[in-house]
Amino acid sequence: MPVADLLHLSGAPRAALRGLVARDRVAIETVESPRRPASLEMALEPLETVTPTEDQARVIEAIQGSLEARVFAPFLLHGVTGSGKTEIYLRAIEAVVASGRRALYLVPEIGLTPLLARRMRSRFGEVLALLHSGLTEGERYDEWRRIRDGKADVVLGARSAVFAPIPGLGLIVVDEEHDASFKQEEHPRYNGRDLAILRGKLAKTVVILGSATPSMETFLQARRGRYRLLSLPGRIGRAGLPPVELVDMRREFEEVGRETVLSRRLLAGLEERLRRSEQSLVLLNRRGFSTFVLCRTCGEQIQCRHCSIPMTLHLRRRRLNCHYCDDTRPVPAACPACGSEHLHFGGTGTERLEDVLKTALPGARVERLDRDTARGRGSVERLLTRVERGEVDILLGTQMIAKGHDFPNVTLVGVVAADALLGLPDFRAGERAFQLLSQVAGRSGRGDRAGEVIVQAYYADHHAIRYACDHDYVGFAARELTYRRAMNYPPYAALAVLLVKGRVFERAREEAEGIARTLRGLAGRRIQVLGPAPAPFERLRGDYRVQILVKAPNRKDLQAIVADTLQALDRIKLNVQNLVIDIDPMSTL
Ligand code: ADP
Ligand code: ZN
Ligand code: ZN
Repeated sequence: MPVADLLHLSGAPRAALRGLVARDRVAIETVESPRRPASLEMALEPLETVTPTEDQARVIEAIQGSLEARVFAPFLLHGVTGSGKTEIYLRAIEAVVASGRRALYLVPEIGLTPLLARRMRSRFGEVLALLHSGLTEGERYDEWRRIRDGKADVVLGARSAVFAPIPGLGLIVVDEEHDASFKQEEHPRYNGRDLAILRGKLAKTVVILGSATPSMETFLQARRGRYRLLSLPGRIGRAGLPPVELVDMRREFEEVGRETVLSRRLLAGLEERLRRSEQSLVLLNRRGFSTFVLCRTCGEQIQCRHCSIPMTLHLRRRRLNCHYCDDTRPVPAACPACGSEHLHFGGTGTERLEDVLKTALPGARVERLDRDTARGRGSVERLLTRVERGEVDILLGTQMIAKGHDFPNVTLVGVVAADALLGLPDFRAGERAFQLLSQVAGRSGRGDRAGEVIVQAYYADHHAIRYACDHDYVGFAARELTYRRAMNYPPYAALAVLLVKGRVFERAREEAEGIARTLRGLAGRRIQVLGPAPAPFERLRGDYRVQILVKAPNRKDLQAIVADTLQALDRIKLNVQNLVIDIDPMSTL
């Protein structure tokens, strides 16, 4: 692809959005105002017996004021898990629909929150449009046309729904705004959350970004007064946030005298739940059986043929599998390097944890939720429905079990290998670990009965783990922002990764060096250019990866330097076939 195209496309999602909003503004005059079927009239009546709490009422009032003013008004709704944020979104949506306008409701992954989709459908019926990845091309087109024709008052969808042509848009909700799934990692790269803000600005709407663990970007905007901060500091139920107990696995090893997956404390907690007919969730954020295969004779670790990533053993499928490129191969009987038969299958993934739980707790109804069990249309929904009905005692799984689920009978959440969440050398690793721990902890004790959380870790001293165990988002954010400022990372700097890929490492490195030289030649004092250096994942899908980090004081300066560099490279005809530019990257791996 010529450089000029790259340049053009880097701003494409934003440009597309501008065009869309302009068209919607015209469209609103030709589209009839929303018809309101009888079922919606009923929905607009006061809900569910649910009376807003005092905190909820205060938040609703603030949002209502801006809805009536019909201006761009961005809010950060920071509410602890189980504080009733969903109820706020639904009321805001109802209010905007009642005023004759329409609402867009973005969630990270609809497939993981089937209960929300069901709840929305029962509340809005005919006038709800659903956009998700499970739709066929034809279904998507039909839904799109229905929206464009003004037949849907409420559009619920994942990140790409931010481009839905909604005439008379009055409200955008972004739930779990911190979630990395809002970022599209393929071309064209964009962050649905950021585009939601831009769209709200262009279309003059209210935008609510909601989360229990806001991203550092959004939190800083709120602290600077650019977004209005609304807080729901307490849970709805009387029980409050569940206490979190940290189990130091170093001491557990010392006392038990051998390596264990489940601590005595977590096992006792699970047994107690079984006796009381309550449910438990157990998080382990690594799928597969063994997470690495090592030769005891020569020390070789079996890696993917195409990626610098260790192969995972999937025992049920009897395969080694690369979690990056999905390449699989048979389980070897001997070391591919030296032929030794002494292979060690190490590390624990969800498959092994499932076996450990079933062996330790015979009779317990144990189910696993991860990308391996979630294959096939409707399988996630079926499993989650069974959990909701109480047909599952223990649900274990990867981060999929931590997403917005609301299971009132879950009173214990266990976390296995919390420190594994910190493993990767990326500036957002701490933030991600904090978010995941807080979110999964938030699944415990959401009903009438008090909940409890047990977190196992070897390296238990990391601030992300400590603050998550204290439910202290504000403390974590203060600490994390201090680190980001000191290191000149987002949200204090605008960051771009320029990644050069190539089959031959030397070639990729030389190209990256040429680009870095050009960058440095153009960069003023305010721009920082780091690298080139091999990326932490040095090789993926057969390509070596060498990257340059560019930091600028703001996004405008960053885009300018990137654009200037591309133009300069075009002039000297430097081949940048394999250059990937990621502005505001979610990670630098
Ligand atoms: P969050 O999205 O903040 O995690 P939810 O909106 O899922 O929280 O609310 C948690 C639970 O509390 C849900 O079961 C919800 O139906 C219930 N709930 C919300 N608001 C109220 C209220 N005002 N009175 C009683 N129950 C409520
Ligand atoms: Zn070997
Ligand atoms: Zn691979």
